[in-house]
Amino acid sequence: MYETIYDWDPIGYLDFTNYLEKLYQKSYSKKKKSIVNRFLNHMEYYFYELIRMGFVNTDNFYLILNQLESIQKIDVLPKKLQRHYAITTGNSISLNPSVKGRDGLSKNSFQFMIDSHEIGHIINHVWEEDAFKFCHTLSKNKNVKELLKSIGLSSKHLFYGFQLLDEVCTQELAERVTYQSICRNRPNMTQKRDKRIFDFEPYVTNYCIYGEFQSFAIEFSRSLSFLNCSNDEDLQVLEKLASASINPNFIYKIEEEIYHNPECFNFTILMIAIMGKVKEATYQVIDLDARKDEIVINDCVSIFQELCNKKNFTYQKK
Ligand SMILES: [Zn+2]
Repeated sequence: MYETIYDWDPIGYLDFTNYLEKLYQKSYSKKKKSIVNRFLNHMEYYFYELIRMGFVNTDNFYLILNQLESIQKIDVLPKKLQRHYAITTGNSISLNPSVKGRDGLSKNSFQFMIDSHEIGHIINHVWEEDAFKFCHTLSKNKNVKELLKSIGLSSKHLFYGFQLLDEVCTQELAERVTYQSICRNRPNMTQKRDKRIFDFEPYVTNYCIYGEFQSFAIEFSRSLSFLNCSNDEDLQVLEKLASASINPNFIYKIEEEIYHNPECFNFTILMIAIMGKVKEATYQVIDLDARKDEIVINDCVSIFQELCNKKNFTYQKK
């Protein structure tokens, strides 16, 4: 039997206790005992903090629980895949048992961050299908095809663009909860360079992982009027994005904005696709057999910057 670290009943989340027990029973084996216990403890802590910080409440709790129930089993990553921190597939989550600490985080804290990140992905599945349908509809649109072609991209990049947002939303919540758990302020935004990404061009981030995506998500969010964050600080912008992303109408809101504001249509489509190109490029970096398309990426990054400037100008005019 799994022993919870919190008493979920008095705060109105008894069903979460039942869920944890079920997942424990399905995952438990003598060999996996410590990793299963660790993950469930982390899940509890993550969830508790999300409630405390206001990201989860009784309105979205059942929807989130429903998503979490899609995970049938906790597993250990096979040795040959242990270059990854964790892999979440349709119904199981496989964890690396020997992750080291990094960026000033101890092994335990970094492990907690990784586990939180993976749980975030499971929760975000709530809008993945909507994003897929939305991108599919756009991919049938002749104007959209032409628009993407004009910068060397195709409709698959739209879907990858939402995957970039998914990474940033999950990492944002994981960072918030992790630094809260060790009572430390989050790091300041700093410039980083990674020779594998953007051809040595620096990027600004305060993330432990996926920092190369952060500024794209921030600028994209600023351009969405329903988030109402065009003048907010970076971390406030990300808070609004992450909060919107764990609600079921996230994709609908983006769709609504695009279709009700024709001025916005091209900007937004291009921004999503460019984020998709960046996402694709970093996947190619991880996959050693693939080569990244450096010229297209660098061009895309400049176009993204131009779009942000133009869009800000458009907003200021109103
Ligand atoms: Zn991820």
